[in-house]
Amino acid sequence: MNHPAIAAHTPLTLVLNSGSSSLKFSLLDPKIGQLYLFGLAEKLLEPAPRITFRSGSEQRTEPLPPKGHEAAMQAILTELEAFGLKERVGAVGHRVVHGGERFKRSTRITPQVIAAIEACVPLAPLHNPANLLGIRLALANFPQVPQVAVFDTAFHHTLPEYAYRYALPGELYTRYGVRRYGFHGTSHQYVTRRAAEMLSRPLETLCLISAHLGNGCSITAVRQGQSLDTSMGLTPLEGLVMGTRSGDLDPNIPQYLSDTLGLTLEQITDLLNKKSGLLGLSGLSNDMRELEEAALQGHAGAQLAIEVFCYRLAKYVAAMSVPLGRIDALIFTGGIGENSALVRRRTLEWLGGLGFRVDEERNQQAVRGQPGVITPEGSTLAMVVNTNEELMIAWETQAVLS
Ligand code: ADP
Repeated sequence: MNHPAIAAHTPLTLVLNSGSSSLKFSLLDPKIGQLYLFGLAEKLLEPAPRITFRSGSEQRTEPLPPKGHEAAMQAILTELEAFGLKERVGAVGHRVVHGGERFKRSTRITPQVIAAIEACVPLAPLHNPANLLGIRLALANFPQVPQVAVFDTAFHHTLPEYAYRYALPGELYTRYGVRRYGFHGTSHQYVTRRAAEMLSRPLETLCLISAHLGNGCSITAVRQGQSLDTSMGLTPLEGLVMGTRSGDLDPNIPQYLSDTLGLTLEQITDLLNKKSGLLGLSGLSNDMRELEEAALQGHAGAQLAIEVFCYRLAKYVAAMSVPLGRIDALIFTGGIGENSALVRRRTLEWLGGLGFRVDEERNQQAVRGQPGVITPEGSTLAMVVNTNEELMIAWETQAVLS
């Protein structure tokens, strides 16, 4: 695989996203927004893990020894060294899912910061330990390079108390931190900035709603570049229908499942996070592309899953208009938001009351990385914006270090 020529002396940023069974990395130049090398190590807890490297249009997949994240990091280092790129890494930016109330912004990593991220583990028991594993591996392998933690929750620190508090006994918040934190912050921040650029209007003048629709889905109200409300809560389970997560539920459903089916709390949590959402509703798949195809063939479960997904999303768009007072643009992003003309159309059809109409030709054109406005003249604006969380993490990393 050839690597593109990189101007000599340009310091590069390595962005790491360490998940429980995967390690994603990007090597990029945040100044010019250029991605040089991308890689995804996956199935790290299974017997046959693998890693894929991508540079430009070239791609290569290799097996990894079954030694988890360490083997993945070793393969990344070998790749960087083979092309003389390891020394070019001037900073490492880490995605960290939960920063609790402590982290209101991206932060340079120190032993104290690591301890504080550890203290947030009870809030994100699946994610933060995996993020910390990536941080420890990077510190061991790039000991001289400054490293920065970029939190999914930090963008939402501007939520007012009436938006982040649950209607629960106050002590649960004051002593145990039970509140809405919100997630996907880097994506919401990136696409709202980008939308302002695309509209040639200052972000500080705009009231935007950002719908990030990937495997996880969340929606955020952003005024003057600040998050005012968001659909995910204490954990990423609340809010919209997602690939395998239920989103909002009657809070008595877990009790009912326990009483009627004898399920344990652990089984119920697993059901709500891994077997629900599009997968649970359709009985077929968590993948929107597959569901669209099946729906076309008349699969009733797939049709229902898409309907519930779009209806819930439309309700949430309306809800997010409350803190904004007006909507300058609704942004669709994430794998579904950037590619599914069907989901966008069905959602906007519910939103006639807020002045939305669809320009179906523009809507059909906005797929596979083609962003743009998808509404006609006279409609409240809806647009597709491609997210780029890696670039946002690299920008944040640079901002913290300069
Ligand atoms: P993640 O949250 O894991 O980063 P993505 O943002 O890549 O996920 O989104 C994955 C979702 O995007 C899947 O449901 C996938 O089916 C959907 N998707 C990708 N391409 C299309 C497409 N052309 N049409 C409809 N859905 C698509």
